[in-house]
Amino acid sequence: MTNKALFFGYVAVLSVQFRAAAFCGVRQDDVEQRAEAVLSRLTLEQKIGQTWQCLGREMVEPASGDMSGEKLKDSFLAGVRAGRYGSVIGKWGVENYNAIQRAAMEGVGIPLLIGSDMIHSAVTTYPIPLALACSWDESLWERVASAMAAESLLEGCNWTFAPMVDVALDARWGRIAEGGGSDPLLTGLMGAAMVRGLQGEDMADGLHIAACAKHYVGYGACMGGRDYNAVELSDSTLRNVYLPPFKMAVEAGVATIMPAFHSYNGVPCSMNSYLLRDILRGEFGFDGMTISDWNAVKELINHGTAADESDAAAQAINAGMDMEMVSSCYANNLAALAKEGRVSMKTLDNAVRNILRVKFRLGLFDHPEIDRAMLETAVDPAKNRALAREAAQKSIVLLKNDGGVLPLKGGAKVALLGDVAASDWQMLGCWSTKDLSNFENATLLDGLKAEGVDVAYTEAYTLTGRVDTAAIEKAVAEADMVIAAFGDYWEKSGEGNSSAKIELPGEQMKVAQAVKACGKKLVAVVFGGRPMAFPELARLADAVVMAWNPGGCGGWGVADVLTGLAEPYGRLTVDLPSASGVCPQFYSRTTTGRPATFSAQQPFGQQYRSCYNDASLKAVYPFGHGLTYSTITYSNEKVRVEGGEAVFSADISNTGARDANELVQVYVRANKASIARPRRELKGFRRVALAPGKTAHVEIRLPVSSFGFFLDGGKFELPQSFTAWIAPDSDSGRPLSLDLHAGGISGAIIERESR
Ligand code: BGC
Repeated sequence: MTNKALFFGYVAVLSVQFRAAAFCGVRQDDVEQRAEAVLSRLTLEQKIGQTWQCLGREMVEPASGDMSGEKLKDSFLAGVRAGRYGSVIGKWGVENYNAIQRAAMEGVGIPLLIGSDMIHSAVTTYPIPLALACSWDESLWERVASAMAAESLLEGCNWTFAPMVDVALDARWGRIAEGGGSDPLLTGLMGAAMVRGLQGEDMADGLHIAACAKHYVGYGACMGGRDYNAVELSDSTLRNVYLPPFKMAVEAGVATIMPAFHSYNGVPCSMNSYLLRDILRGEFGFDGMTISDWNAVKELINHGTAADESDAAAQAINAGMDMEMVSSCYANNLAALAKEGRVSMKTLDNAVRNILRVKFRLGLFDHPEIDRAMLETAVDPAKNRALAREAAQKSIVLLKNDGGVLPLKGGAKVALLGDVAASDWQMLGCWSTKDLSNFENATLLDGLKAEGVDVAYTEAYTLTGRVDTAAIEKAVAEADMVIAAFGDYWEKSGEGNSSAKIELPGEQMKVAQAVKACGKKLVAVVFGGRPMAFPELARLADAVVMAWNPGGCGGWGVADVLTGLAEPYGRLTVDLPSASGVCPQFYSRTTTGRPATFSAQQPFGQQYRSCYNDASLKAVYPFGHGLTYSTITYSNEKVRVEGGEAVFSADISNTGARDANELVQVYVRANKASIARPRRELKGFRRVALAPGKTAHVEIRLPVSSFGFFLDGGKFELPQSFTAWIAPDSDSGRPLSLDLHAGGISGAIIERESR
């Protein structure tokens, strides 16, 4: 780079910093006063307007899915001026965004929240959240979220409905793709990091947006993994498994929260004052706003708790739902409900106050319009694509690598098989947006070629169709080894995509059998948005790589790992079950009276076990699993108590010939508690980079209070005696004994939850 280019680059950065600084500075103590002042001048109709998020695509001509560049309807702009909408959903592009905000400021003087689903993609498509979670890397999650925030503004949105912090235990549930996996701690860490990335240090700096933690709460426990289905949970499971990620998002300052579609113990979340008022506001101290899920207020009628739209509006707002998404129960009924006294002015004012607070915090009153020039200087598409490639590399999990078949050896002739291996579309994922039409996306074939692999591609099969065995035999005959794409299409996961079967569809096993029959090494690369059951493939293939939906740059990312340009980094954040019928399968299942054993092959008389006659309870690959290209050993595992901390330590050695990145994990199990507890629970982790032949002494310090749990009603219990592991995954490691009492800590402390 020339000095001149460096100078102008430096000036551009300074100018973004200067303009971003000019954007900042909404003083939080001012927010309350200013919100109060706005509230006090609003008419009843204008207050009600604030509580409605209308459907964007109906507000442009012609009605369209992507509103950028479309003509805004005059009636819509008139409604914006009159203060009929607090928010609008959709992507508008900067011009339309600014036109909407100008109309709002000319009229009622309150800018709109303009929201859309930027879950793993606004312009650049990053790996799906389930994949990204497998990096176990908070700084990566934060960087991706921050890049998405600025890209979202460029798309004309100041608010995203992310992160999804639903703990997902059931692989049949399609929405498992959208969150961090099955562990509350990891889901919460990822959610909090994404909140920090999306909102920045100051949401009002012109480069960040408002986040929304969703779907509050317990959605991942929908019965049978069927989307939108009812949820029945004890209060203690709610508090120990499903609430913690939301609490962590609130502590990270999340601006908004979206209650879920389902009913929780019979009471729909959209009208559940126990969840929305007692816990969210009362216990967690949340002071942002709540937004219903799409049409969810109206769907109270379908749930059977509301007789009509007016009833639905009263139930939702009285329970603490501030804004209604898309359906218009509030807009059409709140005035009458207020007059009848079924909704008090205090309740309505509180909802509006919560909404205004978020608008002030976002700096919308001070800078209603997007500064496109500043954003364009700040957003570097090439840098974002490099980040997407890094994210893909770090999301991929090396599950098996027998005989060191990977990384690919220079000079090897590779046959690449399967439709997905040559598809850029199939790298994307359930919430891909702009990248659907982005021709810069890379296929796995592109990635391998670009990295100099001697690769010949033959489709030979599609994931769901017939297998052309003759084509496989021909392709394989000319190759030294085979890489084949397995799994499922991304369109089969995500919202409304539950599956009763999570086995590999179509005739995929024939592919593995045909390759092995030719006596060639098989590397199976598995794509998809959910954990799948493939025990037979895992047995037959020499190497198995879980690639998930790695995003627009996924083709490069997967190739980087296969060639060894990037060392394997990812670890599973879910179990990969042996069969559909064992779902929900998760490492942290509760201990049982009759032992849970992996299979029914018990000696006569010992069949009274908690297992299945026809499927193994043992995960094909367990939570936390992921290999490196080297060999890692653990020794001297120990735990001691020091003050209020448990100190776990081990010597981790790289006994192989390559650099390695090990993820050291800490799990505990209570030996005695007043209720049955998980067989293992993740409590901490630490990454360690090791050169060949090196040993690192790793210490992980954790507050012992983090080993406690909640009982029904929110009482906290800290057991005294634990079994603990410092280990490479949730199934292995040497059990250690941890006695808090011996460390001077009296267990069984039972106290009220802190907030
Ligand atoms: C989904 C939400 C999403 C909303 C808006 C709903 O159907 O459940 O996750 O944010 O639509 O698109």
